[in-house]
Amino acid sequence: MARLMAPAIVILGSGALATARRIQRRYPGARVHGLRSRFDARAERGAGSGHEAGHEAGHEAGREAGHEANQEAHLQTRIEADLEAGTEGVDIVYEELSAYLRELYASGTPIIALCAAGIVIRCVAPLLANKGTEPPVLAVAEDGSAVVPLLGGLAGVNAMAREIAQALDVPPAITTSGELRFGTCVLNPPPGYALASIEQGKRFVSDLLAGERTRIEGGAHWLDDAPLPRSETARRAIRVTPLAWDGNADELLIHPRSVVVALADGDGETAVARVRDALAARGLSPLALAAVVVPSSCSGDEALERAAHALGVALRFADVADAAHTRSLPRAWLEAALPAQCEIVDAGPGIALAVAETPLDPDTIGRARGRLTVIGLGPGSAELMAPAARDALRDATDILGYATYVDMAGPFRADQRVHPTDNREEMQRARHAFELASGGRHVVMVSSGDPGVFAMASAVLEALDTSGAPHWADVELQIVPGVSAAMATAARAGAPLGHDFCMLSLSDNLKPWAVIESRVALAAQADLVMAFYNPVSRARPWQLDKALDIVRASRAPDTVVVLGRDIARPGASLVSTTLGRLSSADVDMRTMVIIGSSTTRAFSTRPPSARGTPREWVYTPRWYR
Ligand code: SAH
Repeated sequence: MARLMAPAIVILGSGALATARRIQRRYPGARVHGLRSRFDARAERGAGSGHEAGHEAGHEAGREAGHEANQEAHLQTRIEADLEAGTEGVDIVYEELSAYLRELYASGTPIIALCAAGIVIRCVAPLLANKGTEPPVLAVAEDGSAVVPLLGGLAGVNAMAREIAQALDVPPAITTSGELRFGTCVLNPPPGYALASIEQGKRFVSDLLAGERTRIEGGAHWLDDAPLPRSETARRAIRVTPLAWDGNADELLIHPRSVVVALADGDGETAVARVRDALAARGLSPLALAAVVVPSSCSGDEALERAAHALGVALRFADVADAAHTRSLPRAWLEAALPAQCEIVDAGPGIALAVAETPLDPDTIGRARGRLTVIGLGPGSAELMAPAARDALRDATDILGYATYVDMAGPFRADQRVHPTDNREEMQRARHAFELASGGRHVVMVSSGDPGVFAMASAVLEALDTSGAPHWADVELQIVPGVSAAMATAARAGAPLGHDFCMLSLSDNLKPWAVIESRVALAAQADLVMAFYNPVSRARPWQLDKALDIVRASRAPDTVVVLGRDIARPGASLVSTTLGRLSSADVDMRTMVIIGSSTTRAFSTRPPSARGTPREWVYTPRWYR
């Protein structure tokens, strides 16, 4: 079924915050996004970046944040905290409005922008020429006095305008004539239904506006109370049917997604043609297809995945007990799995088809192939997250990870389940992810930075390697890289990792300190640039000083050192110093320490204007003597 993402409530200044929070009460999954230069992000503030950050940031283990009631309570606490502290915070900060709105729009996120309609239009204008799915976009006056739906007529923008207007106690500024007249967008049927043709639909609505009347044929419960000009004898009809268009120009056709096709074998290459032929033979529209079902033994077959994608439906799996009977499976299986009122027919050798009166929810038919995607969020800011990671978050049914990172990865829709956990339970969390995924869920495991650098990807693979559970091996596992803290810090400083370097974690939680000492000594002798992760924590106060003593034994005091703290997060700081001056007091668990090699250099550029600030750069040249 079509799912709408939680909207982004985007504001420019603090004048809009009160209105934004009122709208947020109506959409508890939504977050308020504010311009970085005007806001400090409450959600990002205090975000620990260290392995041990759970102790610092405090976590709410077991909190199922996806639960609406909890989100409402969470929001209420935040509003109260705002009032009590007399401070203002937003949930997420962005750098620049125009690019940010385009990014939200392109990702299909509904946008509620609390600023002038003209600003919003100009920002997203470059994207409008491209046909594609258009999310709802609304402009709302900062003081809540006007709600203007701008884009996304087919995605329910007018319905949202009414909801927001009701929350703000003002009339919505609906401008769609059909909608004004009929009180509903006839061309925007609810989830589970598909409009046959938008062109045909537009003509139909303009005919009704010009005075034509209509009958309604088939179940269209959402139109029951709509003030449509009805007449039982009208030539025009709104027809709700899985049957394909028969060329009658007087009909507005809406298809319930009420057809399921089951295939006995997994020949993915011919699947699209076989399904289309089976539908066509019964006069059914491809838009009425809700799902394609194949035996579980076909799980992982990429050609079948592609076929389902080409048909625009979910691929679902039926558990077949006896492979010898697979040719008679489709019909028998559909009979067992679908509601009694479905009509089930054999549609050829090894293919059967079921047609229901009303939409069938694909999520309830057989099971999905489970998916586990391990992603890195990058160092913190949205623009440094890979689009593939964002896509995975959008498609996730379940999100797992250490609570701080899960919070950073939001906002989530009400239908997404969030499982924040304690930072130390890595293996347990990895197993939980496989259990959920092997049950057919689409699970995303979040790490900060890159998931393969001192993070969850290894734990996930170790869980798979050591479990031997066959149903885990069937999970579609993918690892999406991210910008690691060393890369993010290096880029801010210049290019200190421009030649050979190594990454070391100074945490002795998961390896003996003796190993760390020997690796630091050898790396220092080898003149490698070193990136220290997890340099210190409250539980490990002396380790960094010890490591620095070892480095100083083979590297000069004027060796360049870069310290990046909370890079790409609010309150980020970047310091360049030398090995001689470096003190462990300058470093905490949210700091990345980069120790240069003998060739790493720092220099400053001075802008021509006397008022310009000098800029320091650090780099390691590409050559080596
Ligand atoms: N997977 C992460 C690293 C996790 S280990 C990555 O690839 O970045 C946690 C350590 O990473 C912290 O102790 C700190 O040394 C470093 N770190 C993570 N995020 C950081 C940030 N935004 N700024 C500076 N250092 C960061």
